[in-house]
Amino acid sequence: MGVKVVQLSPKILTFFQEEIIRYPSAETGGILMGCKKSDELIIVTHVSFPGPKAIYKRRSITFDIDYCQHFVDKVYYESGGAITYIGDWHCHQSKKIKPSKTDFFTLKRESLNPESTECPIMLIVGVEKNFSRIIDFKDIYGFYYDRLSDCLREILVINELGKKTQDFFVIHK
Ligand SMILES: [Zn+2]
Repeated sequence: MGVKVVQLSPKILTFFQEEIIRYPSAETGGILMGCKKSDELIIVTHVSFPGPKAIYKRRSITFDIDYCQHFVDKVYYESGGAITYIGDWHCHQSKKIKPSKTDFFTLKRESLNPESTECPIMLIVGVEKNFSRIIDFKDIYGFYYDRLSDCLREILVINELGKKTQDFFVIHK
């Protein structure tokens, strides 16, 4: 069983937007933290930058591991353990939001890591070249790794009002 729905607030979209605008010609991303409301619903409450020592490239982003770990620990302790690591996010510098091979293996590795969270998710924000407009929920795609089928499955991304932004699940491999 995997996550079926991830809920984001407009505040988080604004955060993605600001980080993407800071690095208009590279990928960027960071950590997602939040809480599981049920087996199928995750609410994202905190998101991070990739960190000061992150390596930004046109087609990849390497997170600053120390910064990310510090972020996870800080939010976890400050919330009394209520807010935990749930996955990560990054952008694609194209309208192609399909996870890359690297994305597939990254999420698979994290999902099979016994020390990580159960069923981590990956959010991909699809942005266009010379990005200038406001990011919408429709630009954000969520995925989790399905062990049984060895593939990534798409998650519904919704806002606080529970509005659906996609109407179907697509299997990516
Ligand atoms: Zn990617």
